[in-house]
Amino acid sequence: MLRVEPIPAFQDNYIWAIDDGHAAAVVDPGEAAPVLAYLARAGLVLGAIVITHHHADHQGGVADLLAACPAAPDGEPVPVIGPATERIGHRTRAVREGDEVELKAPALRLRVLEVPGHTAGHIAYAGELPGIGPVVFCGDTMFASGCGRLFEGTPAQMLASLDKLAALPDATRVYCAHEYTRSNVRFARAVEPDNAALAAWDARVEALRAAGEPTVPTTVGHERAVNPFLRSREPSVRRALAGQGAQADDDAAAFGALRAWKDGFR
Ligand code: ZN
Ligand code: FE
Repeated sequence: MLRVEPIPAFQDNYIWAIDDGHAAAVVDPGEAAPVLAYLARAGLVLGAIVITHHHADHQGGVADLLAACPAAPDGEPVPVIGPATERIGHRTRAVREGDEVELKAPALRLRVLEVPGHTAGHIAYAGELPGIGPVVFCGDTMFASGCGRLFEGTPAQMLASLDKLAALPDATRVYCAHEYTRSNVRFARAVEPDNAALAAWDARVEALRAAGEPTVPTTVGHERAVNPFLRSREPSVRRALAGQGAQADDDAAAFGALRAWKDGFR
């Protein structure tokens, strides 16, 4: 049985820790201190580091983590897995679409999905975790009710990346890297004011945040129902785009117009 826990970092990042009660793999450790505090509190040792993309808030803690935890439980250096086409400091294994990542501690397997758009070489890790079920660690590609900004990719690339994530089984838990849900839901409701599932989710998000709880992970099925960036082909979203005066001649243009609307939404 494995467990996945969020380690809050910076203002609104989540570093995800996957553990078996002894060793933990951490996903996107942008800073080391909260990870080391979590490991000490939970009585865990560091077994692996997994990175989705090159931004500093996702890999900035790697050097300090390796300095504090020079060896994994098997006595070997702690592996650092990251995307092949990006600059990832201390990376020991470069991975691409379709690669299988097999970690020893905790023992688990993940497969790599290339999801360019937020960055050019962004990857996600999908798998089936014992005791949890299907999961995906998607960094800054998909968020609860939103998606990452297009810093290095085109709308067509990001749309294809989100289509890839949306094609995972509905029950797949989506472990994204930021708590952006409230502002994402505010935008989503402007796009789809008549989406009843979204209205219910808005109330749930408010309750969770008022209680100081994370709103993630959500699931792929949930995102398909409420995330406008997974719904850019829906007539309701297209009508909203038309209402904004957006030119949307094809799916990529519609997606790009939706992303641009969100970029300027306050
Ligand atoms: Zn990022
Ligand atoms: Fe980020």
